[in-house]
Amino acid sequence: MKQTRRQLWFFLRYVAYRIRKFFREMGLLPAARRTEMARLCSHLDELKEASPKTDGCEECLKTGDTWVHLRLCDTCGHVGCCDSSKNKHATGHFHATGHPVIRSFQPGERWWYCYVDEEMAELD
Ligand SMILES: [Zn+2]
Ligand SMILES: [Zn+2]
Ligand SMILES: [Zn+2]
Repeated sequence: MKQTRRQLWFFLRYVAYRIRKFFREMGLLPAARRTEMARLCSHLDELKEASPKTDGCEECLKTGDTWVHLRLCDTCGHVGCCDSSKNKHATGHFHATGHPVIRSFQPGERWWYCYVDEEMAELD
């Protein structure tokens, strides 16, 4: 059940990404936003694939908290919890450091997400 909800969440995020991409390519986004959105993400072209520093969320391990899913910072290897977790440490790490790209740290998942451009990349 939990797995299905996660897949649905991922699917919806992906659909939203495709829709934005479509509108961007059609030039239908408002002019003010278009400059920002038209810039294709370059971060996802230069993945660093940093090795994870911890096995679980670094901050939650210190405080004894739990998490739902894990995200790995592609720049420095920081492991943080996802936005479905109460502490949202992965997003917090982006705001604190500006490291733009996270990847999923869930077994079998091969996708990356850029916070700056809100773009997602997936490998089979
Ligand atoms: Zn980017
Ligand atoms: Zn980082
Ligand atoms: Zn956490």
